[in-house]
Amino acid sequence: MEKVAFNVQEIRKEFPFINRKVNGKKLIYFDNGATSQKPQSVINRLTNFYTNENANIHRGVHTLSQEATSAYEESRINIQQYIGAKHSHEIIFTKGTTDSINIVAFSFGEHLKEGDEVIISAMEHHSNIVPWQMLCERKGCRLRVIPMNQAGELLLDEYSNLLSSKTKLVAVTHISNALGTINDVKTIIEKAHQVGAKVLIDGAQSIQHTKVDVEALDCDFYAFSGHKLFGPTGVGVLYGKEELLNDMPPYQGGGDMISEVSFERTTYNTLPHKFEAGTPHIAGGIGLGEAFHFLNSLDIDQVEAHEKELLDYATMRLKKIEGIKFYGEAKNKTSVISFLVEGTHPYDVGTLLDKMGIAVRTGHHCTQPIMNFYNIPGTIRVSFALYNTKEEIDLLITALDRIIPMLKN
Ligand code: PLP
Repeated sequence: MEKVAFNVQEIRKEFPFINRKVNGKKLIYFDNGATSQKPQSVINRLTNFYTNENANIHRGVHTLSQEATSAYEESRINIQQYIGAKHSHEIIFTKGTTDSINIVAFSFGEHLKEGDEVIISAMEHHSNIVPWQMLCERKGCRLRVIPMNQAGELLLDEYSNLLSSKTKLVAVTHISNALGTINDVKTIIEKAHQVGAKVLIDGAQSIQHTKVDVEALDCDFYAFSGHKLFGPTGVGVLYGKEELLNDMPPYQGGGDMISEVSFERTTYNTLPHKFEAGTPHIAGGIGLGEAFHFLNSLDIDQVEAHEKELLDYATMRLKKIEGIKFYGEAKNKTSVISFLVEGTHPYDVGTLLDKMGIAVRTGHHCTQPIMNFYNIPGTIRVSFALYNTKEEIDLLITALDRIIPMLKN
């Protein structure tokens, strides 16, 4: 597909939220780590589906059902090609990252037995902690954690020490939602494979910011959410290597995931249907395909360069604020800045910024272990997407310059 040269002003025209006002001010949206805004093409695709194409999939002989099925399956192929998977049936539609991780923890987890070990890292989202704790409790396995340094970088030597023949699965985030750290997942995967362990990468914060090629990475599973990469909520993907998915028991039982059912015995459908019980989020899957179409029209390296420029510029400007402390200063990081300002509470800063039309996140960002590590209750998080600009960062700085003295008095 031909790529359009990156031009932030042109991109902004594709996102109708740009015209939104909040509290009488032009909205500045810096909460992209939580969810992204949607381009008009994705919104139109959803509307068009419900207006003209709505039918259930994989079941009907009638035209509408066949059209809906084709659109859904084309979307799967779009995603497969974008992330470099070998087969489209390695793309399982799920509810999102959380759902994808739970599928692996439950289904792949059925292979684990007492004494086996699962490794996660110190910077995981709760979604990539709790399912593994539940698995370990169920199976009598041990959960081990790769530590990190003060800058928010994983200690890979310590990781090597944790790995052994007992390690069955390593589950690590590609990019930290709270710190912005880009982890060296290629090395993490290689090391895990050396001891025969499989690897799940939590890609919730990755595909919208950087190139992801699952074959080149050689990860065994890759999980992500549609809503964070300009697609709809309630839909996401679990990528898994064919042989592993084939070898895993289904996660849920129901329609579409079966081959034959009798009261005595049921046989299961082939991939990807074995893991897609019941009527899926059809419009969501189709809308997600459109989001990938949007991403594919851009050169992701140029997107990454733009976001790096935003990160460097914002960091430089924020550094000049007296009493500011950053959390997450990894050498290799992406467009997330977590910080606190001495003498102020993050919640108050977030609330006053909202009064000025600026949306940021405050709190623990579903990463309480990170907050415990730094011994803080939470941070203010500014997270950029491809449609953000330096002018918006200037307005954030002006707003902070007004707010902070007010809160300190
Ligand atoms: N993992 C990471 C790194 C995240 O940032 C998030 C969401 O913020 C998740 C997992 C969970 O994603 P979802 O809530 O879309 O399932």
